[in-house]
Formats: sequence, C-alpha cells, structure tokens
Amino acid sequence: MPSIQIKTSSCSYPFLCGSNILEASVKKYTDQMPFSRCYILVDENVWAFHKARIRAVFDDCPAEYIVEQIPAGEQSKSVKQWNLLLDKLLESGVRRNTPLFAVGGGVTGDLAGFVAASALRGIPLVHLPTTLLAMVDSSIGGKTGINHATGKNLIGAFYQPQMVIADLQFLHTLPEREWGNGLSEILKYGAIQDASIFERSAIFKKPEPLQTSQKSLEDLVLTCAQIKADIVEADEYEAGQRAYLNFGHTFAHAMEKVADFNNLNHGEAVYLGMLAALKLSETTGAPVNDSLLQNFRSLYSFRVSEDMLPIKQLMAAMKSDKKVIDENYRFVLLNNWQQPELKTVNNHELIEQAWNSVYQELR
Ligand code: ADP
Ligand code: ZN
Repeated sequence: MPSIQIKTSSCSYPFLCGSNILEASVKKYTDQMPFSRCYILVDENVWAFHKARIRAVFDDCPAEYIVEQIPAGEQSKSVKQWNLLLDKLLESGVRRNTPLFAVGGGVTGDLAGFVAASALRGIPLVHLPTTLLAMVDSSIGGKTGINHATGKNLIGAFYQPQMVIADLQFLHTLPEREWGNGLSEILKYGAIQDASIFERSAIFKKPEPLQTSQKSLEDLVLTCAQIKADIVEADEYEAGQRAYLNFGHTFAHAMEKVADFNNLNHGEAVYLGMLAALKLSETTGAPVNDSLLQNFRSLYSFRVSEDMLPIKQLMAAMKSDKKVIDENYRFVLLNNWQQPELKTVNNHELIEQAWNSVYQELR
C-alpha cells in the first residue's frame, strides 16, 4: 500500500493513501493495537453516503464500536459539540487505550482530534480524511482544535494520530465545491516547494479526476502529504518554517473574516489570497507573476463581490490575524518560485495594490 512515514519529536506514524484501502488499513491498525472497543466520530454526510461500507469494515473487527455523528459545518467546531462528545465518551466508559477514529473532512478531524487529545489526557487517534483538503493538509501535522467566540481555532492542542488513512474512494461523493478547497492547498505546495505540482494538477481540469487519473491523484496526494510532513517535522510547534504553509493565508483569513465565512470557503479565499501574495511578492521585487495560478482560474466560481470586501475592513482584519505581530503586516512572500520567506511589509500602497488584484478577479 503506498504510504509515507510522518515523524515528530514524540512519535512516527504512517500516512496511507490509495483507493479502497480502508478495509486493509483498519485491519492493519487493529492487528497492531488490539482493542475491545472503539469510537467512530463521523461527519453526518459521510455517514449518510458511506455507512454501509464503514459498518462492514468495523463489523469485521472483533471489537465493539460506537458511532457518533457530527453535524456538517464549521459550527461543529464548538465548545458545545466538544463537550457533548466528551460526555458521550466518559459516560460510556472510555479507557486510556480506547481508539477514536475521526472520519470526515477538516471539521471532523479538528474536533474529533481535540476530543481524542483531551479525553483522559489523550486516547489513541486515527484520522480517516474524506475530503481532498483533509487528505493533503489538515490530517497531517497534529493540529487539533475548536473555535471560540473571539476567533477560529483558539482552543486546541498539538496531538498526533497513530495513523492516517486517506482512502480516495471517499472522494467519489465529495461535492464539486470541495474539490477547489483541496486544490488551493495543493497549488500552495506548488508555489512554496515543488514546481511539478502545477503541471500534475492539470488532472483537476478534466471531468472525473478520480476515474480518469486515479494513480496520478494518489501520487499527488502523497507528494503533498510528504511536503507537509517534512515541513512539520522540521518545525513541529510552528516556530519557523511551518509558517510557509501560510502562503496566501494572511490575505485569505482576512477575506474569510470580512465575508463572514459564509460566501467564501477556505479554498476560494486561499486561491485569491495567493494571487494577492504573488502580487505583493512581485511589487516588492520578486520575478514572479500569477500565470501559473491563473491556469486554474476556471475551476473557481466566486460568490463574493468587491463591495462585500471593503479594503478598510480587510486591512483591519489582517492586523488582528494571529500571524501579525504588533503593528506590522507580516506575509509569507516568494523571493522566487519555491523560495518562500516570512516578510514584513509596511507600505500600505503595495498592500492595497495586492488587494486590487483580488478585486480584479471578482469583477
Ligand atoms: P474541509 O475538509 O474542507 O475542512 P469540512 O469538514 O467542512 O471540510 O467538509 C466539507 C463538507 O463536505 C461538509 O459538508 C461535509 O459534510 C462534506 N463531506 C466531507 N467528506 C465528504 C465526502 N467524502 N463525501 C461527501 N461529502 C463529504
Ligand atoms: Zn489553508
């Protein structure tokens, strides 16, 4: 089974990727770590589509399993939902060695991951990402967490899973708009690390990439997972180069906040944010332009307009971003393709010019 090994200071775990690998992977895990009971925390839509298969996999295990569905959407990353799940675990007698399988996209992974991190100070966690974004990004690196009224992801922990199982078979039911969500992070890896990714991502321009280019998709997911794993290995607790993963994200987070997260999903914001970051890289002297990204423009359709993103609010939102230190605006910019650097830019005119390149896309 194609896989990579993710190493951290405290442990090392496999990231398995392929089509129809769920059955064999869960078996592999249960053979290594025998247990008498486990929890499956699963996104409600994933459960609706895939419950027969998930049930069959766990029916085959000798252990008893308890399924808890998680309502779809960012609202589930709440103290309330976390509390509810902890109640369920603790009241049903969870033990230190009871594994928790998180089956879903980034929302489920973050929430269920934090439940696993906090129950009894940590129970075994296995990620089964079911969105492209979760496969190439959020299931790797050990970030778990929920939102607070004052901001996203403000309550959480670094907590590594024991295994990640990325079964492409789940993607057959992934809604169209969610593909763009994953693609933006994939293109980000192209910009900061591996030029081949831009060409290889052409598979997303064809209809049904899963049917026509399954092997290429599998390789691409593994390449991206490896890039993220390498960066995280070098900087587990986000002191330095892990920040490069935020390419396009200072702009993106500001847009998500001002557009109120409703009209703009994360991938769309990151795509636009990368256009802005490229513009700012260019105007501060780097020999880059946005043509590599523009090749994928047709895969996005934006539901926000310029007037929903007033420049004043965007600038203010960037100031309150976690990545902004004191009065300075800090960005991950490119010195050249695949050469990211964390930079401070205080020239408002240049930043506004970068925002203008976003507005241009929305006209
Ligand atoms: P992300 O991974 O992009 O952070 P979410 O966890 O919010 O995304 O999931 C995005 C949406 O896709 C949710 O509505 C979720 O229910 C749904 N979803 C996740 N995985 C699948 C899948 N494999 N098939 C169908 N819908 C899915
Ligand atoms: Zn992102």
